[in-house]
Amino acid sequence: MKTQRSAELFAQAQQLIPGGVNSPVRAFKAVGGTPRFIARAQGAYLWDADGNRLLDYVGSWGPMILGHNHPAVVEAIRAALEEGLSYGAPTEREVRLAELVREAYPMVELVRFVSSGTEATMSALRLARGYTGRELIVKFRGNYHGHGDSLLVQAGSGLLTGGGGTAKSAPSSAGVPQAFAELTLVADYNDPEGLKALFAQQGEQIAAVIFEPVVGNAGVIIPTEEFLEALHRLTQEYGALLIADEVMTGFRLAKGGAVELLGLKPDLVCLGKILGGGLPVGAYGGRAEVMRQVAPLGPVYQAGTLSGNPLAMAAGIATLKTLFQDPPYRRLEAYGKALQEGLEDILTYAGLPATVNRVGSMITVFFREGPVRTYAEAVASDTERFKAFFHGLLEEGVYWPPSQFEAAFFSTAHGEAELEQTLRAAQAALTRMPA
Ligand code: PMP
Repeated sequence: MKTQRSAELFAQAQQLIPGGVNSPVRAFKAVGGTPRFIARAQGAYLWDADGNRLLDYVGSWGPMILGHNHPAVVEAIRAALEEGLSYGAPTEREVRLAELVREAYPMVELVRFVSSGTEATMSALRLARGYTGRELIVKFRGNYHGHGDSLLVQAGSGLLTGGGGTAKSAPSSAGVPQAFAELTLVADYNDPEGLKALFAQQGEQIAAVIFEPVVGNAGVIIPTEEFLEALHRLTQEYGALLIADEVMTGFRLAKGGAVELLGLKPDLVCLGKILGGGLPVGAYGGRAEVMRQVAPLGPVYQAGTLSGNPLAMAAGIATLKTLFQDPPYRRLEAYGKALQEGLEDILTYAGLPATVNRVGSMITVFFREGPVRTYAEAVASDTERFKAFFHGLLEEGVYWPPSQFEAAFFSTAHGEAELEQTLRAAQAALTRMPA
């Protein structure tokens, strides 16, 4: 496959942008090789700068659930474009998108729009601290909630693939003051006993627990019922807020995300990705009593020049309306099931130890024996094998996330032909691999 133009652009980019990229995982650091510079996208496919067509399993890391350039989304943005780009004053579209959020998440009585998932989680934490008057927060090892200072502690995603400081010590990025990191307590995902012990020690000082309701940022990890039960019980018992970070899972696992799928009862929800349909939107919301602490109603300050941006709102409205009108979740589940079973068959045939974790349209192939239920089990995967898998797929024109510790995403534009191409590519990649 030709990569000459991508290589030239990458060389230029490295002279101008740290590592040549504006978000670390894009640099292919974990897998090596030339990151593909993308020229355009349509449906389930990307075209790179050398003209190669790639079947896309990154989906912009989650937003593109309708596939690229969905006509309803493009049309909505075009219509908004005619009316001006940004006013710094309220607009009707913000009201309409807020209504759609509440339709999907009835527990979100009030919602505030921001411009990224990072801002959503940072703001939700500030709100939880402001509301409770407490300073400690709890997060889980290997969960990722964006790059806010308090949350870059034993974080997943790019931090697990060598994009940041060290993954093992807290904080996981240089530049995060130790004093901030000390206010972030880290517990193990799917370990209800550990969480209980933490609350027994410091529960009275804990403002909030933030969690990925289905983990995507250590690869896909599925929560156990006992863990979810402990999260709800302990936060209630100690008066801490439970914050479901649905930036990745919101509108992806169900109309009402993991909250609907798993029957969760968080106090606050963070949203992003699909909410903006490919343009920069995040949100946090929840019970009115809590959300009324946010400025201008309350003392917790949070603002944004481009918050509620008309184009971004238009893309979000069109995306959610399209999803709600003809919910694709059964079709995505059917595709996912066939993909998972196909991959499992090929892996078994190739004699490679592997575990496929999947919820709906989020999937990870871990190169190790299962089960993979914790961060420790995920990081024990054979990343050399993953690398070979990744490059094998790419060689066959399938663009999988360039890290063992990320979820792959597919969209409503992925159909029979794409499934077949993927399984053929996986067969080629895996049967070539040494057992
Ligand atoms: N929370 C979760 C669960 C995420 O997956 C991400 C991004 N991958 C974020 C927060 C941060 O969102 P953003 O990159 O838009 O700041």
